[in-house]
Amino acid sequence: MFGVIRNLSDGLAKTRKNFTDKIGSLIRGEKIDEAFLDELEEALVASDVGMGTASFVLKDLKERFKRNELSSPTQVKERLRQILFEILSAPSSVFSLAAAPAVVLVVGVNGTGKTTTIGKLAYRLRAEGKKVMLAAGDTFRAAASEQLSIWGERAGIPVIKHKEGADPGAVVFDAVSAAKARAVDALIVDTAGRLHTKSNLMEELKKVHRILSRELPGAPHETLLVLDGSTGQNALAQARIFHEAVGITGIVLTKLDGTSKGGIVFAIYKELSIPVKFVGVGEAIEDLRSFDPREFVDALL
Ligand code: GDP
Repeated sequence: MFGVIRNLSDGLAKTRKNFTDKIGSLIRGEKIDEAFLDELEEALVASDVGMGTASFVLKDLKERFKRNELSSPTQVKERLRQILFEILSAPSSVFSLAAAPAVVLVVGVNGTGKTTTIGKLAYRLRAEGKKVMLAAGDTFRAAASEQLSIWGERAGIPVIKHKEGADPGAVVFDAVSAAKARAVDALIVDTAGRLHTKSNLMEELKKVHRILSRELPGAPHETLLVLDGSTGQNALAQARIFHEAVGITGIVLTKLDGTSKGGIVFAIYKELSIPVKFVGVGEAIEDLRSFDPREFVDALL
């Protein structure tokens, strides 16, 4: 458990530095006034929490300041911690795979870390004692199913795949039958991620989604969108498009270890109301963490 906490904290080092360098230096001052609060707002925006979140936080702080409830920088920091936690407390970030087989559909733009995330998630579920299977639904790139097979071999997990250019719908159809026949606990489905602005990709994803729910009522049980945490506000635009097409149940925010833009987590909750379920804090197979709002806020402040 200690290892997990230390790892998240390590992974968030750059974002924390951005937060604490800017916000911390303001808060260490002796007194607070309107100008202090304005500077705090700028610091929040610079940390990529988004304009909406920054003004929401500041409105709360200013009202409390006027009511004389905040008289010291320490009190501001405590209220900030509380309000950031409140932003992340709904909707719930619990990742639930109660059904068997439970299907996890994974979508996202190429390069965000989708394949790596699938490998990490498969490894993690298997370590929990689950029987896992992968479906190589990105038939557009031959490299995608090869990469998935490598992750599968590494974790000792079967991969259902067809040849390049095959119909992704046929892959998921076969994968669901195989998952049922082999009494698999969790089937993780990879999908194509070529340019999200191309509507034919969204049509393809909708079709995959439709086939899954037709072949297995209730499926997909989770639809995870993988977003590259270092792309900041741009990630929000991607999320809107995928959410409209297939209904995202959770976000996996990758590459938090390499960025100072981790404040994007708050923008995701505030502006999209989609929970973050996992964060990626490195390239290794163990570097996927369940998202815990309290742990995240504590690691930041
Ligand atoms: P895909 O095209 O979306 O399937 O992306 P890949 O899974 O191939 O990942 C793209 C690159 O991002 C690879 O070099 C991965 O090692 C790297 N990557 C993925 N997740 C993380 C992460 O959490 N942290 C870091 N530092 N790199 C990551």
